[in-house]
Amino acid sequence: MSDETFSLIGIYGGTFDPVHFGHLRVAEELIEILQLDEIRFLPAGYPRLRNEPIASQHHRKTMLYEAIRDNKKFFLDDRELRRSGESYSVESLRELRDEFKGKKAAFCFIIGVDAFLKLPNWHLWRELFELSHLVIVNRPGHISFVNHACLPPKLQDACLDRWTDDVNALKRVSSGFVFTAVTTLLDISSTTIRAYIAAEKSARYLLPDNVLNYIGTHHVYTRKNENR
Ligand code: ATP
Ligand code: MG
Repeated sequence: MSDETFSLIGIYGGTFDPVHFGHLRVAEELIEILQLDEIRFLPAGYPRLRNEPIASQHHRKTMLYEAIRDNKKFFLDDRELRRSGESYSVESLRELRDEFKGKKAAFCFIIGVDAFLKLPNWHLWRELFELSHLVIVNRPGHISFVNHACLPPKLQDACLDRWTDDVNALKRVSSGFVFTAVTTLLDISSTTIRAYIAAEKSARYLLPDNVLNYIGTHHVYTRKNENR
């Protein structure tokens, strides 16, 4: 790699209520596809655009930690949990850019297509393109990116001239590209897992065993829990 290229760091925001194999497999594949140095999982504190998470911040953080601790390239970044008030990804990316000043690193903000389609509702969403590249992953049941024309007009405009399928392009500038990654489609969601657990159905093989054990031990998603 020449001195002129940026090393790439994945930033994976989400509620992770709980983290599951859909998240983890995407992260593992993106490390290879984009040749990322690392991925930082960034659990949201109080998401503005959705219902409050069911599990406490402590539980979500611990479950995520348990899920990623054996992977040397996965890191937990709990800055949004430590922040009071609502979580804004833009704020986190601004902070990260400050922290990485002088390091020749570019951030790849990872986002599932369901979340990407709602991007224009996010606080200062256009600034994301100034702070990072966007990496979009498909999700079963959502539109695929074969045809960009099916995006809402605002998003289409914002992404115009930003699309690339060249990983090396991402390494040449610190922000501004939109890359659509082809990863294994896994039809797993936290909503389904929470529903299975609440209904006392098995959620095994949808998420790591140690996370499932933690959920069971601490009654994270069952009514018995008074402390979630
Ligand atoms: P919930 O059902 O509570 O919304 P979720 O499974 O969608 O949970 P989130 O924490 O909301 O998980 O998602 C964080 C990010 O991961 C989002 O960008 C989302 O699109 C993406 N994501 C979640 N599950 C998958 C999956 N199975 N495949 C690809 N991307 C996913
Ligand atoms: Mg979701």
